[in-house]
Amino acid sequence: MKRDYPRIVVPPPGPKARAVVERQNRWASTSYPKEYPLVVARGAGAVVEDVDGNRYLDFMAGIAVASTGYGHPQVVRAVQEAAGRFFHICGSDFYYESFAALCERLAALAPGPSKKRVFLTNSGTEAVEGAIKLARHSTGRPALIAFTGAFHGRTMGGLSLTASKAVQRAGFAPFLPEVYHVPYGYRYRCDFCRGEPACTMRCVSSIEDDLFAKRLDPRDVAAIFVEPIQGEGGYVVPPPGYLKALRELCDRYGILLVCDEVQSGIGRTGRMFACEYEGIEPDILLAAKGLGSGMPIGAIIAKESIMKWQPGAHGSTFGGNPVCCAAALATLDVVERELLPKVAPLGERLLAGAQRLQQKYPPIGEVRGRGLMIGVEFVKDRKTREPAPEIPHELVERAFKRGLLLLGAGKSSLRLAPPLVIDEYDVDTALGIIDACLREMTD
Ligand SMILES: *Cc1c(COP(=O)(O)O)cnc(C)c1O
Repeated sequence: MKRDYPRIVVPPPGPKARAVVERQNRWASTSYPKEYPLVVARGAGAVVEDVDGNRYLDFMAGIAVASTGYGHPQVVRAVQEAAGRFFHICGSDFYYESFAALCERLAALAPGPSKKRVFLTNSGTEAVEGAIKLARHSTGRPALIAFTGAFHGRTMGGLSLTASKAVQRAGFAPFLPEVYHVPYGYRYRCDFCRGEPACTMRCVSSIEDDLFAKRLDPRDVAAIFVEPIQGEGGYVVPPPGYLKALRELCDRYGILLVCDEVQSGIGRTGRMFACEYEGIEPDILLAAKGLGSGMPIGAIIAKESIMKWQPGAHGSTFGGNPVCCAAALATLDVVERELLPKVAPLGERLLAGAQRLQQKYPPIGEVRGRGLMIGVEFVKDRKTREPAPEIPHELVERAFKRGLLLLGAGKSSLRLAPPLVIDEYDVDTALGIIDACLREMTD
């Protein structure tokens, strides 16, 4: 079956796109990173149309947000219906059914047998920020551990945990005190396992042997914040048993384990939450990006034994907005009933295709991922593994001009994170375009 996308009618950015880009660049903050001059007019499913009529196949989902794609009828209907009733009353101070229903739903979805409670936020960062407060409040301890390469957002608390790109931190010190960064389980670039025949999980044991032995008393640590798969840091999948080892470490010292699933959650990896693959129960679980299909909503899902701060301790004017709650409930319906079973097989097809490209193109050093969260890392030389950041950069540019939306991650990786509504045709189309771009680049 022939489809009407990707379709480039004017080389992007076309004249209408250029006008918007110029205007936005004139008036908007200079801090926005900006990837490429995509100017969106509308979207449907996994296809985005720009203001000049170009149609793109989207393999970045607005940074892993458009879980149900663009304009999913069930989500649109829920949003329209909720918007027609009331926009706002403030869920921190009053009540409405969708707020109660979403808290109940997320509490039930979070892995593990413990009873849970839920705090609703406007964003991923706000969920991280709340989790920092909750962890300190419930343990009475000050210190926080996070990982090199981590991204936990950009407000001062979240930013203090973030360590994926120095530009994100430059000029903003002083950060939150008592934050300690340790190496992530990044097998491809592991300092501990270099020269070892297999992973020894030294990245976890060194927290005890090095950090706790020499620099930080574990009884001062409130929480370890971890992404089950690092997102912004490069779509990095840690070794099997990694989360379990962190869970055990936390249990030995009464430290809370916070899984930041802002990017990896809501079905992206083929399970509702990525930490389910290791069968662990986090003390606090954070969701946002894919939760509302693009409507701004996030959640802190915590064990009931932990989320017992007193009334007034934390709140949010807009968090859990009724229109966003409706979007989230509809999204969860669609993801659970319709999309989740398809994510793993589609992910396997995408991963296998990326691995075939790896065999063909020496600059692809590693392909990794789970479900529709797949990273492709580029190197100058497979032996030295020297990063080659210019390759994903150029690839993303070329793919854009051919009608495929991609996004880089980490220092020299490409992230593949399409809306979960794609099908086999889309997977093959995306792989074909990436192949064509790489062929041009390596000729
Ligand atoms: C994007 C992201 C955040 C920040 O979310 P915002 O909604 O941009 O505030 C936090 N943690 C992770 C893992 C993320 O990917």
